[in-house]
Amino acid sequence: MKSELIEYVHCDLCGSGDYRILPRFYSFQGVDCYHVKCRICGLIYVNPRPKREHLRTFYPPHYFHGSGYVGGLSDSGYPTRFDSILDTIQSSMVYNSALLEVGCADALFLSKALERGWQVKGVEISDYAARYARENRHVDVVTGTLEQVRFCKESFGCVYMGDVLEHLPLPKESLAIAWQVLCHRGVLVIECPLFYNSLYGKVSHLGLLIRLKIIGRAHMMEGPPRHLYEFIPSTLEKLLVLSGYEISKKVYQTQSKILREILSVLPERFEGIFSNRILVYAHKI
Ligand SMILES: [Zn+2]
Repeated sequence: MKSELIEYVHCDLCGSGDYRILPRFYSFQGVDCYHVKCRICGLIYVNPRPKREHLRTFYPPHYFHGSGYVGGLSDSGYPTRFDSILDTIQSSMVYNSALLEVGCADALFLSKALERGWQVKGVEISDYAARYARENRHVDVVTGTLEQVRFCKESFGCVYMGDVLEHLPLPKESLAIAWQVLCHRGVLVIECPLFYNSLYGKVSHLGLLIRLKIIGRAHMMEGPPRHLYEFIPSTLEKLLVLSGYEISKKVYQTQSKILREILSVLPERFEGIFSNRILVYAHKI
């Protein structure tokens, strides 16, 4: 029964099956799905994990309300960030004005791009969010995954994945498809959390290791394992380079204002230390 629900996987970055178990896990249908770290390349991923066909059920309509998408935060808090991303893309000298967003939720980003004259398309696993986007934002959004929807090769100037890569079962495969649909020197934009890189992540990881030693119990995380990967800057960069991209710009975000101010006076080599999010611009090569 459980084997119908879960699967054991190898590292998506280097293919190794050699990993060590970290002290955090999700409980999925009675199975402990642990964060593991590849002993070869350092990629952190969930293993075992729910099979691909169950992932869609993790995104019911209330997920999009609770996350602040449809009718929520995305209408009030996100536009400035989206404007800044679109400004950077537009300054990248991409002559193809077609933009694809993978995992576009309610398509607010795409609607902002549409206002600027981009031809936009979206792919969204949730039929609820995709329908909302079509009916309320009048954006061409297909229900499904990037792997399911067959776009023509070299048909987009930009592919945007905001808080999506860590949810995908096979990021390398998805980045390869994005590479195929991007035109020559097309821009890939990735935004993702860096939990294990953040100060909070590092301190809490240390605390959990001590707790595991003392009481022999790992920490159970809430909800289903929506994040199948936990990137740090080095694993994300390796993945992008291996997938045929050249990184052109990285923007790190750090939660704590005090920490941000301390880091701003440190030399450049400390850039990214303790950041909890990253925004990466990369070109197809
Ligand atoms: Zn690996």
